Amino acid sequence: QLASTKFVYDFTEGNKDLKDLLGGKGANLAEMTNLGLPVPPGFTITTEACKVYLESGSEPAALRAEVSKHLDALERKMGKKLGQADDPLLVSVRSGAKFSMPGMMDTVLNIGLSDASVSGLATQAGDERFAWDSYRRLIQMFGKTVLDVDGELFEEALEEAKRAKGVTVDVDLDAGDLRALVDQFKDIVAKETGRDFPQEPREQMDLAVRAVFDSWNTDRAKLYRRQERIPGDLGTAVNVCSMVFGNLGPDSGTGVAFTRDPASGHQGVYGDYLQNAQGEDVVAGIRNTVPLADLEGIDKASYDELMQIMETLETHYKDLCDIEFTIERGKLWMLQTRVGKRTAGAAFRIATQLVDQGLIDEAEALQRVNGAQLAQLMFPRFDLGAKSAMIGRGIAASPGAAVGKAVFDSYTAVKWSRSGEKVILIRRETNPDDLNGMIAAEGILTSRGGKTSHAAVVARGMGKTCVCGAEELEVDTKARRMTTREGTVIEEGDVVSIDGSTGKVYAGEVPVVPSPVVEYFEGRMHAGAEDADELVKAVHRIMAYADRVRRLRVRANADNAEDAARARRFGAQGIGLCRTEHMFLGERREMVERLILADTDADKEAALAELLPLQQADFTELFEAMDGLPVTVRLLDPPLHEFLPDITDLSVRVALAEARHEKHENDLRLLQAVHKLHEQNPMLGLRGVRLGLVIPGLFAMQVRAIAEAAAERKNNNGDPRAEIMIPLVGTVQELEIVREEAEQVIAEVEKERGVSLKLTLGTMIELPRAALTAGQIAESADFFSFGTNDLTQTVWGFSRDDVEASFFTAYLEKGIFGVSPFETIDKDGVGSLVRSAAAAGRATRPDLKLGVCGEHGGDPESVHFFHEVGLDYVSCSPFRIPVARLEAGRAAA
Ligand code: PEP
Ligand code: MG
Repeated sequence: QLASTKFVYDFTEGNKDLKDLLGGKGANLAEMTNLGLPVPPGFTITTEACKVYLESGSEPAALRAEVSKHLDALERKMGKKLGQADDPLLVSVRSGAKFSMPGMMDTVLNIGLSDASVSGLATQAGDERFAWDSYRRLIQMFGKTVLDVDGELFEEALEEAKRAKGVTVDVDLDAGDLRALVDQFKDIVAKETGRDFPQEPREQMDLAVRAVFDSWNTDRAKLYRRQERIPGDLGTAVNVCSMVFGNLGPDSGTGVAFTRDPASGHQGVYGDYLQNAQGEDVVAGIRNTVPLADLEGIDKASYDELMQIMETLETHYKDLCDIEFTIERGKLWMLQTRVGKRTAGAAFRIATQLVDQGLIDEAEALQRVNGAQLAQLMFPRFDLGAKSAMIGRGIAASPGAAVGKAVFDSYTAVKWSRSGEKVILIRRETNPDDLNGMIAAEGILTSRGGKTSHAAVVARGMGKTCVCGAEELEVDTKARRMTTREGTVIEEGDVVSIDGSTGKVYAGEVPVVPSPVVEYFEGRMHAGAEDADELVKAVHRIMAYADRVRRLRVRANADNAEDAARARRFGAQGIGLCRTEHMFLGERREMVERLILADTDADKEAALAELLPLQQADFTELFEAMDGLPVTVRLLDPPLHEFLPDITDLSVRVALAEARHEKHENDLRLLQAVHKLHEQNPMLGLRGVRLGLVIPGLFAMQVRAIAEAAAERKNNNGDPRAEIMIPLVGTVQELEIVREEAEQVIAEVEKERGVSLKLTLGTMIELPRAALTAGQIAESADFFSFGTNDLTQTVWGFSRDDVEASFFTAYLEKGIFGVSPFETIDKDGVGSLVRSAAAAGRATRPDLKLGVCGEHGGDPESVHFFHEVGLDYVSCSPFRIPVARLEAGRAAA
């Protein structure tokens, strides 16, 4: 650690681009300070200090003195000292990582209050009750979050005090009651921790700072980071901010606001306000708030100032911002701002609105949306015309249509979802302890809290459907049931449907209909139509930007004309992978079985002859659907076991027949053959090019079918552009043999039909050896298509069919990887092979066409990688094509 490292920044020293160092909250507080907005003075302890602490177990040596220097400056600015007996400066200590993270320690308010200064605060505020209540809150928050005392103990003591007095709300406790409660709270701390509540203000502050550092590594925080793919080594910054009070009477209050509606993107006044309350009361959803618009009637001056600030922030950040503010006796203070989370639909709408307002350009608009959001918009919605029993309505907090069995606690949500049930997590309100259950659930329903409650914020972040604050629903978590106003009872296990786009809650299962975005891609809804959905218009524009700038082409993995046609509607520029084995699953499976098991040449030829016309018809349809666009047909690549009868089933059948003395010669013969072909590792067995090499005539038949189909299309004035692809090649020799045979067949067909077909022939690169010898392989290949499914399987030595069910959960939990390498390309391992093979292939053959057709071709992060390594196209399933187009555009913009 360098002696010159600066660990503390005054709010006046930072700016919004220093999020790595100051965390999101600190960077934005600094930005607002420098914009001249009313931010209470304070300073930020950097993430670097946190990292030193987390690595070494103690704060950097220089930190204490640096904090003292900044605290001195703060005290001078405020004209009072931290915890000063007659007029105490109080501060809040708030965590603030680069990315906002529920599950970490949030805030300790009122640091600096003590037995010595509580009456000074009372005198200064002219309010004794306020001073004792502030002290009570400090001990409670500090006890719980810094000293790890069970928060229930404080809650119970508070409830007991109210009960004893015969009142129901906190505000009915007077100064004397709160003073007695402070004593009780101090007793709780002493009893639970074996030490007295710290009276020294600086010690309070230092302990709170350390607790924020420690909270980086709580289980909940780690879980959230894994979910959100946030690296584990960023650390958090700590913000020390002078206190302002929203609980000094009716002319005080606190609120949260958005510069636009985070659900629709519409401009307007969105937020919640809570009069005479301290900040955390709003976020926790503990008391009911009023709409922000009501503030105009309560305190017009502050309202007007807030509106102006919101406009300043939007213009400055050029984006939707969310805000926390406090009004202390008529004076407005900004406590936080950040670029706000939003729903997927709002992201698209806001991006185009900002372009129209001239605040951002099209390239920037592309960065404001992503493929995951687009995928979310393609989910179906509830069929509003269907008969359905609406039982309540809450706030549409996070869109989507979710159906599942009602569960009332996180534990059950996780347990049931593990056993394959779809569940809706129903809570009065959620807190960070519910995170596991929220992840497991299809959707979340709460009876309390607004758009900014924990449930709403977290669900939006996760892209989960959420309805919150459905107040007419009486949730009884102990009894595991929910009762509607009309008296309908929903018990645990009953099916409910929640609509996160409208806030409606239904009993039973409501049928779903396709999303308008899918209707648009399908061509059934036109963005140009007068009454077109606003969202569809926005998606249309963003897709147009993406298509204009992207370099990667996008093809589809499709094996039949129907998928091909859909893919084309969705914008596919060809087929990157037609898996011919899929053409023989179902009722045609037995034909392949006959081919594989054929004993004599005659049997084999008969089987091939049976397959040929079927194949040809398949290809003709496909080439027609993709007329004018490339269609990569992959020759048969079945892991053999997928085409043979199950060995166990067959053995049982034979054994039963024997026991019953029934005829079973056929089964017996089949069993012997299956035994002979049985493989311990079929994925590493007789498949791909190997199959073509050991079953003479198989690939020739397929090539003939392709060539004849192409010829037929040509003769019908079509424009077929077939590419023949050989799977599972490990060495150029395999390819050379197949190529020679294929070229012969093609020449024959060309001669027979009198056409020139211009078929190309290439290979998949899906074995490490192929990648490592790509330079040689390219000698015999017109194109490469990376089969990243098999490549991942063979590079890692992970069986792609088994790992997800066996040890992947443990790997994800231990953070060995943040996401399955079968989902997002492993850049360092598999990806580096792709990169080097692409380069080696092009070194041999500069015009070598390069694509990818593994699942990764439709994964947003992987698409960026494939762009970067210079592939020509990605190929993915039809429904992911719009996502791939968008991400390819984002990668290029
Ligand atoms: C691959 O291995 O990535 C691939 C596309 O082929 P398949 O998934 O059919 O093995
Ligand atoms: Mg493969």
